[in-house]
Amino acid sequence: MHGSGNGPGSGAAGEGVPLVDLAAAHAEVAQEVRAGFDRVLASGAFVKGPEVAAFEREYAAFVGVRHCVGAANGTDALELALRALDLPPGGGVVLPANTFVATAEAVLRAGLRPVLVDADPEYLLMDPERAAAALPGAVALLPVHLFGQLAPMGPLLAAADGRPVVEDAAQSQGARQHGRTWYGRIAATSFYPGKNLGAYGDAGAVLTDDDALADAVRLTGDHGARDRYRHERFGCNSRLDALQAVVLRAKLRRLPAWNAARRAAAARYDALLGGLDGLALPRTAPGNEHVRHLYPVRIGPGRDRDTVLAALHAAGIGAGVHYPVPVHLQPAFRHLGHREGTFPVAERAARELLSLPLHPHLTEARQLRVAEALARALGGRL
Ligand SMILES: *Cc1c(COP(=O)(O)O)cnc(C)c1O
Repeated sequence: MHGSGNGPGSGAAGEGVPLVDLAAAHAEVAQEVRAGFDRVLASGAFVKGPEVAAFEREYAAFVGVRHCVGAANGTDALELALRALDLPPGGGVVLPANTFVATAEAVLRAGLRPVLVDADPEYLLMDPERAAAALPGAVALLPVHLFGQLAPMGPLLAAADGRPVVEDAAQSQGARQHGRTWYGRIAATSFYPGKNLGAYGDAGAVLTDDDALADAVRLTGDHGARDRYRHERFGCNSRLDALQAVVLRAKLRRLPAWNAARRAAAARYDALLGGLDGLALPRTAPGNEHVRHLYPVRIGPGRDRDTVLAALHAAGIGAGVHYPVPVHLQPAFRHLGHREGTFPVAERAARELLSLPLHPHLTEARQLRVAEALARALGGRL
């Protein structure tokens, strides 16, 4: 499961504490969404159309970028971004071993070759030195803004040494670094329901300041056609639909407040959990304004993450693991030829990370229940 979504404790609240609470978010936008759905149903414009164009304008303005091009999902958006760059077929793209599998899938689907690198041990973001060591022979760099904070873009752009930098911004909607929301040539994001800005189904987008790249993305995702039945580029079908755009427009208006609520909830966890043994809290890298897509704590050493996870689930706490198996140890990526031990930081993160419930509608009382359950599972007290 990525980002967040369905899993133990998600959905209706009941006695437990869900990992995410999509129903509470819907309650805030329900009226606008119904009115927008009525507009779309009356218009009959279901794919692209004015709602999509309006959302693309509004999201581009939110990010501070010239172009936002909608796509069917975030994985496609990343593939479209890579395809638009017209990189040499089979060229290496450097990406982290500790990411959701979609990052690597998009590289392969774009006809390129994933070159994995280990993370920096402190923040679990792409490490510029390891990236630089992997870059000779590669054609692009693909950092992931993992868990809601940007990878260190200054050093990564320097390491890329002129090669295009493609950002996986699926988890970082609204995040900033030194005041800026993005840095590379082109970025892709996902509006999967559990992301900070989530649709009611699959959706995604590509962001760029480059007019020609934006045009190539738009063409590629729409069968390579600018005019009907004239196919200039080899394309595919990956477009944003109007009903999703209605939801995204309504939620985008709340996103700054929702991200602030996530930050406040993270600060409350920091305060509640700071004194516990057997646990390390997530850290924010210098210069970053974090949007807390997830709140992953590290369990151990000397304690077993899965035992703690089971205890939380037994207490009705919808904790998750992002991600239990790094890309290089996934059966689907065995052909890359890595074995256990190749990327020790990513492997250790996969063993130790445990994501606590975190979303904009999480109450202090529920956070206290989470913290108490976690303290009990670790054999300590708050
Ligand atoms: C969610 C996610 C994606 C893929 O997005 P989808 O919309 O689910 O295809 C890619 N990369 C990361 C890091 C993600 O979290």
